[in-house]
Amino acid sequence: MAYQTINPYTNDLLKTYPNATDAELESALNTSDQLYQTWREQAPVTRQATLHQLATLMRTEKHALAQVLTTEMGKLIGEAEAEVTLCADIADYFADHGADMLQPTSLTTSAGKAYYAKQAVGILVMVEPWNFPYYQIMRVFAPNYMVGNPMILKHASNTPSSAAAFADVVSRAGAPAGSLTNLFISYDQVKTAIADKRVAGVALTGSERGGAAVAQEAGANLKKSTMELGGNDAFIILDDADWDLVKQVAAQARLFNTGQVCSASKRFIVMADRYDDFLAYLKTEFAKVQPGDPLDPATTLAPMNSARAKQKLQKQVDEAIAAGAHVYAGNQPIDLPGQFFQPTILTDITKDNPAYDQEMFGPVAAVYQVHSEAEAIALANDSSYGLGSTVFSNDPEHADRVAQQLEAGMTTINRAWITAPELPFGGVKHSGYGRELYQLGLNAFVNEHLILNA
Ligand code: NAP
Repeated sequence: MAYQTINPYTNDLLKTYPNATDAELESALNTSDQLYQTWREQAPVTRQATLHQLATLMRTEKHALAQVLTTEMGKLIGEAEAEVTLCADIADYFADHGADMLQPTSLTTSAGKAYYAKQAVGILVMVEPWNFPYYQIMRVFAPNYMVGNPMILKHASNTPSSAAAFADVVSRAGAPAGSLTNLFISYDQVKTAIADKRVAGVALTGSERGGAAVAQEAGANLKKSTMELGGNDAFIILDDADWDLVKQVAAQARLFNTGQVCSASKRFIVMADRYDDFLAYLKTEFAKVQPGDPLDPATTLAPMNSARAKQKLQKQVDEAIAAGAHVYAGNQPIDLPGQFFQPTILTDITKDNPAYDQEMFGPVAAVYQVHSEAEAIALANDSSYGLGSTVFSNDPEHADRVAQQLEAGMTTINRAWITAPELPFGGVKHSGYGRELYQLGLNAFVNEHLILNA
């Protein structure tokens, strides 16, 4: 596969990067292993200042860093800037709290004086996707930098410039060689790295297909893995929902990042008496978008990240329609050269429709009508995925009762999906396993080393 930057707004091929050689991979593993041996002797607090410096640099260079994202994978410049700021916040969060999170924990036992230390495990392989090119790296990088696990990064083949820009700012912040090495490696080289005895684990964010392949390699080599995979999140509007609040957030919950968000609301589940109103509202909001140059702050609909992604989404929509889905709005071509997809609303998706249990990774909303709360919960849970979900109700206890019945790693009440450094992120079922961010993310690749003194 070629690592290339193709601007999805202009379709221009801007840069091709040579693939890394096996010798470069070996050299990177060697450098990272040497760093790991050094880091084992140093307290986590000694790494704090570099993460703070990284946050400072990212805030100072926000616009330039954001332009790399927008030019390479098409997101709106405002959303790209927000991603850079979020990354700086994650770096600061783990700089501020990482050392405390890594303090030993005392245990009460009649066997003696016991505690467990929280120690680094070794080199991690990081496999990341293009949809939030910096944020996905930072979720793994910041906590593991504090822990002392050096990282080898394999980023998506369509976001190599973002990967290079991230590695560059990390290096300029003062992180030592080997702490984060970005390599343009093949799938086979990822396998080689996972099998290498200096590597302790692998963190992947991506599709079920990619996740299954990489998890299989990790399993075969008895290496720990975390898998942050796709989602088909339900947005449930209960009969006591605050309708104005719903209208403030529902459309954007689907359209942010041109709908290319794992935890975006993708299935809207609405009580029958609100169904027509909801459809009319969503259609109006979707029709308001202004497609155009994502570098222009006036644009509100960015292109999708690549021609391949757009073709895949169109095929899914075509198959859904062929299987009986109704196009309530959208699905018309946009007369611009970039990879634009008109925001689309599908209804009448029956259980035998392929769209019923597929993740549509773009601006397509599936809207379902239900007649009871039990039906809403059953429909939400009737999915291979279990990443996030959203419940709208004016009654906090009611909302909480429903939230607890949802098969998801994350549920938000009366607001759309959110990510923040202090909130754990991850899913169940085919959405993967493990958590990133918060203390749970930091714990993912830690040796909880029991020390018992009789
Ligand atoms: P993808 O095809 O799985 O790609 C993700 C990364 O995995 C890329 O770096 C890709 O490399 C690599 N990869 C894929 N197959 C591999 C293999 N067999 N061996 C080694 N590396 C492999 O995912 P995508 O479709 O581009 O990304 C979108 C998906 O990510 C969606 O399903 C979305 O929901 C999910 N996602 C999940 C989260 C979460 O936190 N749960 C967050 C964001 C996105 P190449 O680019 O070179 O193929």
